[in-house]
Amino acid sequence: MTGPFTIAIDGPAAAGKGTISKAVAAHFGVGHLDTGLLYRAVGAQMLTGAPPEEAARRLVISDLDDAALRGAEVAQAASRVAAIPQVRAALLDFQRAFARRAGGAVLDGRDIGTVICPQAEAKLFITARPEVRAQRRFAELRERGAQTDFQSVLDDVKARDHRDMTRADAPLTAAPDAIVIDTSDLTIEAAIAAAIDAVDAKRKEASG
Ligand code: C5P
Repeated sequence: MTGPFTIAIDGPAAAGKGTISKAVAAHFGVGHLDTGLLYRAVGAQMLTGAPPEEAARRLVISDLDDAALRGAEVAQAASRVAAIPQVRAALLDFQRAFARRAGGAVLDGRDIGTVICPQAEAKLFITARPEVRAQRRFAELRERGAQTDFQSVLDDVKARDHRDMTRADAPLTAAPDAIVIDTSDLTIEAAIAAAIDAVDAKRKEASG
């Protein structure tokens, strides 16, 4: 890809978005921004007592390089700060600049195709049933040695879905022109292949 070609990938927690986004970015040789990390970094700073709006304004890229941002407590804090319009506004320019990088970019999140990059050349919405998403997250947490049970992971996934879908500012929803991929009954390889095919079709369309 030569000119800017933005690939917007949205969807709820643990639908496979992160894995698919990384694979799509690698396939097309473009940069990838996991926008959830921006909200997680602000959420983590809120947990240490910082005002979220200020934390969002001061955020620097090196704040995102922290394994602690992956934890469940930070995920819930992220979805709380994500409901604050001033936090979303403070993170907007950074995301838009990344999206229009020469050569193209993949951004994954909740509102990329609807709010951050409504003009994105390719939009995907990756989803899966809540029980399937919770099962995947549960396996991942167990693998990392976390002490947790399936029911609390499912409750967390549902609480986050609810908060993300019902907030007034930039709620989680598929853009009308997004291609929806439900990964519930797909292997990760099949889900990645479906995403690459969808982007390829858009790329061909764009090049005329
Ligand atoms: O994708 P991830 O689970 O890391 O996102 C953490 C939280 O950040 C989400 O639950 C959501 O509330 C928020 N978020 C958002 N908009 C984005 C990305 C993430 O509101 N573009």
